[in-house]
Amino acid sequence: MSELKKLNVNPCKMCMPIGAAIAFKGIENSMLLMHGSQGCSTYMRRHMSTHYEEPIDIASSSIDEQGTVYGGEDNLKQGLKNLIELYSPGVIGIVTTCLAETIGEDIRRIVADFKQNNELGSLALVTVSTPGYGGSQFEGYYLSLRRIVEQLVEEPAHKTKKINLIAPNISPAEIRELKRILELFKLDYTILPDIAQTLAAPYTADYSKIPAGGTRLRSIKKMGEAAATIELGALVDSSLSAAAYLEDKFAVPVYRLPLPIGLKNSDLLINILAEISGREIPAVLKEERGRLIDTMIDSHKYNGQGRAALFGDPEIVYAVSSLCQENGVKTILMATGSNIATFNNKLREITAANREQSLILNDTDFEEIRNYISEYKINLMLGNSDGAFIEEKDGIPLLRIGFPIHDRVGAARQQNIGYQGTNTLLDRITNQLLALKHDNFRENLYQKYYQPLSKSIAAESFTEQSFQTAELSVGDQ
Ligand code: SF4
Repeated sequence: MSELKKLNVNPCKMCMPIGAAIAFKGIENSMLLMHGSQGCSTYMRRHMSTHYEEPIDIASSSIDEQGTVYGGEDNLKQGLKNLIELYSPGVIGIVTTCLAETIGEDIRRIVADFKQNNELGSLALVTVSTPGYGGSQFEGYYLSLRRIVEQLVEEPAHKTKKINLIAPNISPAEIRELKRILELFKLDYTILPDIAQTLAAPYTADYSKIPAGGTRLRSIKKMGEAAATIELGALVDSSLSAAAYLEDKFAVPVYRLPLPIGLKNSDLLINILAEISGREIPAVLKEERGRLIDTMIDSHKYNGQGRAALFGDPEIVYAVSSLCQENGVKTILMATGSNIATFNNKLREITAANREQSLILNDTDFEEIRNYISEYKINLMLGNSDGAFIEEKDGIPLLRIGFPIHDRVGAARQQNIGYQGTNTLLDRITNQLLALKHDNFRENLYQKYYQPLSKSIAAESFTEQSFQTAELSVGDQ
């Protein structure tokens, strides 16, 4: 956002605690407690339950007027007791909201005191400071992963061949795809967080308050033993990086890669897995790669018509821009509501050779995005549902990807990563461009070659033309 634009209208982001909520939902038998006023947890639950189409339980310490003035310590401690009694979780994430941070609540101290005065057995408590105004869901998500490993990983007794994979905020179906790929290389792994089941639970007759699945606490504790960490977070600053902590503290080497969307980004992941595992790339992956190249050949002739705007989480914008670049779709506008130092530089790198310079917006809002979409004649948007009003008002089609998607079903089943997911996403993009072409074919042709004339020009042309015709007629005779 420019220095002149201090007012945010329809921010292109959500607040830090919602990122924390998604991260903690990927830990086995975990619950989240938000220290603050009640509305924050309602807001998070509402967005998450419409996106994942799952029941989402998030506890709140429900600070009231008294707590706001005198401090919310008692609320937080009582909230922890209630939560333990009602849910019997194995891990509790305790995160702050705007209110708790503004009144200066020290959750580390309060939770340390709670631990000292209560018999908690194997229950693990993790604290993360996530003021809503401290960043977006992107920072909240990665900071929570960093705090989880800082507070839970134990000193390794020995090294193993296991690898750690730090996953970005992607769908449960995409986590399942990552697992399939890791298993094809016969790797033993810990994936953090693992929302494959917790946020896409199979239907069962019995309702469970905390869904099955998620990264096991004992696996997290042993992440320091790993042979390597792959962090799918090319734009993540080291202060937010769980992988950077594991490297600094336990000398676990890091491979930092972009989200594997697109041929090049998928190749990067597959080649690293081949290197780490010491195995050949499995034949099935080679086949999938070949099919993706075939799709790229089939669709490239249509994609040159695309003038795309991409918005949402920095990692997703970066990876999908890379896919567009590979396939001839012009990435005219790339925007995020997060304030990420590397966002502009990384996107400049992949768009440097373009004839038309791309516009990159960091820390922006939908008012600014909409203005540029109209000014730069964008004909396709790729991003979350928060941009849907631009589709409604200005008629620019929106392919929904990322988080949140609350006006369509199937967000938890979207699979855009690896060769297979890229194939599906590329088809969606190309088909949208084809639909645009066919829907507007006659109108475009008419506008381009048969412009309607204004009344005065029509009258003039008619007179001139009649005169010329008359002259010609005389001459001919
Ligand atoms: S911005 Fe602050 S007050 Fe609003 S939901 Fe987020 S944490 Fe709560």
